[in-house]
Amino acid sequence: MSERGRVAVFVGPGRPFELREYPLPDPGPGEIVVRIRQANICGSDVHLWRGEMERMGRLPPTVLGHEATGVVVKLGPGAEIDSSGVALQEGDRLVWAYYVPCGQCPVCLRGEVHACATSLVTVHRPCELPPHFVGGFGDYYVVRAQQVRFRAPTELRDEELAGANCALAQVLFGFKRVGLQWGESVVIQGAGGLGLYAVAVAKDLGASPIIVIDASLHRLRFAQLLGADAAISLQEQPDPRSRTAEVHRLTGGWGADVVVEVAGLPDPYPEGIRMLARGGRYLALGSVVPGKTFAADPSLLIGPNRTIFGVSLYPPRSLLEAVRFLQRGRDRYPFHQLAAHVFPLEELDKAFATAATASAGKDLYTRVGVRPQGQESYS
Ligand SMILES: [Zn+2]
Ligand SMILES: [Zn+2]
Repeated sequence: MSERGRVAVFVGPGRPFELREYPLPDPGPGEIVVRIRQANICGSDVHLWRGEMERMGRLPPTVLGHEATGVVVKLGPGAEIDSSGVALQEGDRLVWAYYVPCGQCPVCLRGEVHACATSLVTVHRPCELPPHFVGGFGDYYVVRAQQVRFRAPTELRDEELAGANCALAQVLFGFKRVGLQWGESVVIQGAGGLGLYAVAVAKDLGASPIIVIDASLHRLRFAQLLGADAAISLQEQPDPRSRTAEVHRLTGGWGADVVVEVAGLPDPYPEGIRMLARGGRYLALGSVVPGKTFAADPSLLIGPNRTIFGVSLYPPRSLLEAVRFLQRGRDRYPFHQLAAHVFPLEELDKAFATAATASAGKDLYTRVGVRPQGQESYS
């Protein structure tokens, strides 16, 4: 293949992305070359861009963007069938798990590949080495042989599909992890990308009531459109004690069965734990920046038998479930509005600046998308 393609290289926090061209590799056994249709800027991309994750080690020049979808350009030998047994051909749209577990450690052998130490470190790889196309913010991406991949249904739009990988799959798995039951009450702390998907999934699973907390009235309104039964504004109720009292009032005095942190900060933890019912479960999804802490009173967990679950990544099956959920729920939930604000690849710096603003809750859209080819949406 003599074709070339661009990637937007992340060379370090505070520095502009560098557009570089590389030759498009021929896919090896099990590999697939996809042309990116849309890649969204996830909260963790923003943390990396701001330099907030440097405690975990500095990244080599790499390509960010893991919440993406693309179209098959070339299938390597043996890649003609996806991970669910469906035949693949050039032109099919694809989603893929963005990490690779080691498959051999005690955690992997227990079946919890999302918790494997290797999984997280395989997300960001140096782009100076082949296959170069190692992230969503480029013209192409090379799906590695070990990455789970699924053919996407044709009726879904790029902006609906892009969010499956990461946000939606993670939320689906998170609720499974805490064992959310039909009729249980849920509080969602933060109505960003993860939070809004959490509303739709909780609704689909029969949770009631669903209470959302955020600073942005736009987002809270959108959360209600997706099925939230009650919205608590951080601006109207700045006192955590009054918000906790409100949650208890809305749950008949019991507190919430499940509280989900998707605010991306440790600040809501003490409040969220107090909002839990006896036996309640706290789902920690959003606050991924190392070194940011909260003060905890363990008796608030022990006495009332409350549990905290930390969830990162997702088992590959959750990605397939995410695609099916989008397919099943697209008439009820306006998923396409979640990443309706789209930039071309050349404006990635602007896109990140916008995403950083959006994450502060100032805008209606909650995920910023990037479309390298400037194409129209898929369908
Ligand atoms: Zn993500
Ligand atoms: Zn492992």
